[in-house]
Parts: sequence; structure tokens; C-alpha cells
Amino acid sequence: MSDLSSRARELDSADGLAHKRKEFVLDEVVYLDGNSLGALPVAVPGRLDDVVRRQWGELRIRSWDESGWWTAPERIGDRIAPLVGAAAGQIVVGDSTSVNVFKALVGAVRLAGEERDEILVDATTFPTDGYLAESAARLTGRTLRPVDPAEVPAALSDRTAAVLLNHVDYRTGRLHDLPALTAAVHAAGALAVWDLCHSAGALPVGLDEHGVDLAVGCTYKYLNGGPGSPAYLYVRRAHQDRFDSPLPGWNSHAEPFGMRPAYEPAPGAPRGRVGTPDILSMLALEAALEVWEGVSVDAVRAKSLALTDFFLECVAAYVPDGTVECLTPRPHEQRGSQIALRCDGADGVMRRLIERGVVGDFRRPDVLRFGFTPLYVGFGDVERAAAVLGEVLGEVSGS
Ligand SMILES: *Cc1c(COP(=O)(O)O)cnc(C)c1O
Repeated sequence: MSDLSSRARELDSADGLAHKRKEFVLDEVVYLDGNSLGALPVAVPGRLDDVVRRQWGELRIRSWDESGWWTAPERIGDRIAPLVGAAAGQIVVGDSTSVNVFKALVGAVRLAGEERDEILVDATTFPTDGYLAESAARLTGRTLRPVDPAEVPAALSDRTAAVLLNHVDYRTGRLHDLPALTAAVHAAGALAVWDLCHSAGALPVGLDEHGVDLAVGCTYKYLNGGPGSPAYLYVRRAHQDRFDSPLPGWNSHAEPFGMRPAYEPAPGAPRGRVGTPDILSMLALEAALEVWEGVSVDAVRAKSLALTDFFLECVAAYVPDGTVECLTPRPHEQRGSQIALRCDGADGVMRRLIERGVVGDFRRPDVLRFGFTPLYVGFGDVERAAAVLGEVLGEVSGS
């Protein structure tokens, strides 16, 4: 047995999160795509069966009250809150991340006041955030300026209304300095809006501690909520009373069943709601979140860094020299929970990896992404993935 495979065994036997793996439906595939779609938690199918057959099938309309459907968006928001360092009452679940980016950014601009006429957006952002920021700017009559996250401090001024940033870059896996950037945004008198899609569930976020104004994130990546599971919106308590949603649907009304023609916003987190929640997806998410019971985010982060460190070490040992270039920063404080490798013919390389039971994904033009989800990926998986990558690249490069 190679040194690295015996190291993997030692690391797996010392892993304090190893017992979590049995709470997921997994097979012999090495699944390194949980940063795109998290694996299925074992508890979900049974819960959904009850939701569909009993709550919907038997109780029907009564379930809005008796099964807690109406209050699910806030209840599940409170369940996500500790994972992102938020006290209860500030997160509401519903709609997609895209829709929540729009609510959060327009809301932030309206909070910033009329005299501030510029919005800054992460120039390297996941595209949907950029498209929505452009529309938010047009709607609010502001100018949109794309800037690299590192350039944000220099770009801030008394014209800046709000800044929309991704906590972890979806392509490179680079982790941005949320505390420092949020502090810089505040020093300029602007509001900080963070997209947590690639950080929540993988590393500590500290929304309350760092004074983040608004935040959004999806739940189908590291939170394992299932395909298309609803996203969430965080509005800091201090802003809740002045938060002016651009999508004030009847679910966010102070008295939704008053059916009044005039809109009056609800207090607290429910102000971020829009229309009738997608109950089936939402309750699948609620069941999926039970895997976090008793899990510390710090332990998840420590394992995530150990997994990515070990992967880089195995890649260095197994992959032919010069065939890959790592796009993910080495320093821990700049690394999320994925490793992105650039290589020639990345598309075909990923297809071969998948054929051999190692699932990551490919991002145009030439990037292999490997996501490490600490609740169910082990060190043996990491070693096997790097070994298979080494074989494939050896064949492709003819060495
Ligand atoms: C995954 C992801 C999204 C996805 O948005 P949807 O509306 O759920 O499709 C948005 N932003 C970022 C940064 C993402 O990583």
C-alpha cells in the first residue's frame, strides 16, 4: 500500500465527522460535486412521503396550520441561521437565489438613500448575480460598476450605495475576506450584500458578528436541500424595519389574510417573503437540515481544509508534472471548500473521471472543479480521486 493510502486510512480513522457519512445515500462513486448538488440525506425520502401522503393527501388545506406549512419559511430560516452565524429571526427561506439577489440588492440601495448613485458588483461573480445587479441598477436609477473583489476598497466612495460580493468564487474556490471587505464598505457608508452559495455549510460566515447588512444563499449545494430547493434571504435585524422589498407579495403583508388593497409590510424576517412558498421543496430541505444536528461549523471547516490540503498533496504525487495548474489559492484564509484545476482538454478529462467513478464537474473553458463536502467525503475518497486523475492525465498526455 502506498504511503498516501495509509495516510488516508489514518486520517479517516481520526475523523470526528466520519459518522455523518451514513446519514447520506451514497454508493461506491467518489462524489466531489456537492458544491453543485449535495447528496441526498437518508431522512428526506421518508419525510417527503409523509408530507405528500398524510399532510397533503389526508389533511389537505388544514396542513397550512396543523402541519406548520405557513410558518415554514421563517422556521427553516432559523434552522439555517446558526450555520451562517445569525441569531434567529433574520432569515427567511423561499424563492431562488437569483430572486433573492434582486430583493437584497434593490433593498440595500433603497436603504442607502437617494444621494448614493453607484452599485459595485463583483466582476468575477457567478453570472446570475451580475445580470440581476444590472437590472437592479436600471430599476433604481443607479450606475453599476463591476470591480474585482480585491479592488473594492479603492473603488468605494461617498457615491457607493451597495456592494454585491460572492463569499467564495464559484470557479476558482477563492474565499474572499468577508470581515475586512464588509468593514471597508461600512467605512464608506455603504451596505454590504453577500452571496453565500459556496460558503454556507462549508465554513464559518459570521453574518451577525461581522455586521453584514444583507445576504443570500442557496440550499442545494453544501446544505443538501435537493435540486431546486429554495434559497434564503438574511436582512440584519437593525435594517428590518426599513427594508423595502422590490417584490412585496401578499405573503409579506402584515396581515396576509386581511386581503386588503393597500400594502403594509410585515415586521421581521417575513417581510422578505413574496408569494405562496414551495412547500414540498421546503420541507425536503427541512428534513435535510437535520444532518447538522450537533455538528460544529468550525469542525466542518477544519475537515474541509484537511481534505483540500490532502487532495493537493495527492495530486502533486500522482499527476504527471505540468499537466494541471491549481487555480485555488494555497493559503487557508483564501480557500473555500473546492479545488479548481486548469488543464488541457478539461471537458474530456472530466468525462473520463466520471466514467471511472470520480464525479467532479467541468467549467468552461478549461477548469476541473472538485468540491469537498466534509459531512460525507472521506480522505480515502480524496486519495482515490487524485489517483484516478493521475491515471487519466497520464493516458491523455501520453506519459
Ligand atoms: C449556485 C449559485 C447561484 C444559483 O442561483 P439560482 O437562482 O439558485 O439558480 C447564484 N449565485 C451563486 C454565487 C451561486 O454559486
